[in-house]
Parts: sequence; C-alpha cells; structure tokens
Amino acid sequence: MYEKILIPTDGSDTAEVALDHALDLAETYDAELHSLYVVDTDSMSLSLGPEQLDRIEQGNWGEMDEVRERAESATGIVADRGHDRGIEVVEHVASGKPHSVIEEYAESNDIDLVVMGSHGRSGVRRALLGSVTERTLRSTDVPVMVVEARQNE
Ligand code: ATP
Ligand code: MN
Repeated sequence: MYEKILIPTDGSDTAEVALDHALDLAETYDAELHSLYVVDTDSMSLSLGPEQLDRIEQGNWGEMDEVRERAESATGIVADRGHDRGIEVVEHVASGKPHSVIEEYAESNDIDLVVMGSHGRSGVRRALLGSVTERTLRSTDVPVMVVEARQNE
C-alpha cells in the first residue's frame, strides 16, 4: 500500500515532528522515503529571478549559497535520520509555490502517502493549519497525514 512516502520539509522543528511518523511508516512498510524542500517563490524575503529559479532546478546554485544551505540541510536531516534506520531516502529540491510543487511531485512520482506537519517555520498558532498544509490538502488526491506540531511543545 505504502511504497513511496513523501515528507515535504521546510527545515523547521515542527516538520521534524512529522518526520518521526514518516520514518516509522517507511520502516514498517519497507517504503522509499522522499524528502522535498521547496524554495518558496511566494515568500517575500526571496527576490530570485526566473533564471535563478531555473538554475536551482538544475542544482546549479552559483552565488545562492544561503538558499542552498537551507534547502540541503532540510532534506539532509531526513536523509541522515532515514539512513540511520536503513531506509532508502530520495532528496529533492525544487522551487515554486510549495503546495503546487508538493502536489506535482506526489503525482508524478507515484507517491502513496504524504506526511507533513500541521505548522512550519512561521508556526502561526491562531491558524488551525499552516497555509502550505491547508493548500496541499485541498489540491492533492494523494492521502495526506497531518501531524500536529503542538504535541512536542
Ligand atoms: P504559514 O507558512 O502559512 O505562515 P507555517 O509555516 O506555520 O504557516 P506551513 O508553511 O503550512 O505552516 O508548514 C506546514 C508543513 O508544510 C511543514 O511542516 C512542512 O511539512 C510543509 N512545508 C512548509 N513549507 C514548505 C516548503 N517550503 N517546502 C516543503 N515543505 C514545506
Ligand atoms: Mn510556512
């Protein structure tokens, strides 16, 4: 049933709460774990042009070291913790609107289950769900498991 599990991560502690669940499921079902970080082109703090976004897709980061470090440390946490438990991990970095990229990735890679945190980096507690999680739930047909981030506080 669950051969490929996707964990979208923004590198936050709350995404790591979801990771515990994803690791356990991957181990139980002997599944491949996919770790996806999306460079958020909607985020106002980024002023990347189309050419830079193309280069990110190609892994050609050039001077964008800071973005690269953030991306690779986020997917790297999943890879390290997965490998420690003998789980096969595929790391991927892409750019765009996070929920659209998550949806497209899940559909084009035959993902059976998406595991994600209820909140992320901004951790706005007045919202029931973070916007990336809410939009992913609305846009994809793939089952999504939402892990409540508050359980670890
Ligand atoms: P908001 O972004 O709406 O202000 P938030 O940061 O608290 O609120 P989300 O961004 O929705 O909440 O994060 C919820 C989950 O979505 C995270 O735990 C993570 O699994 C996933 N996620 C968020 N941003 C990204 C991203 N850029 N790339 C991959 N996954 C992401
Ligand atoms: Mn967020």
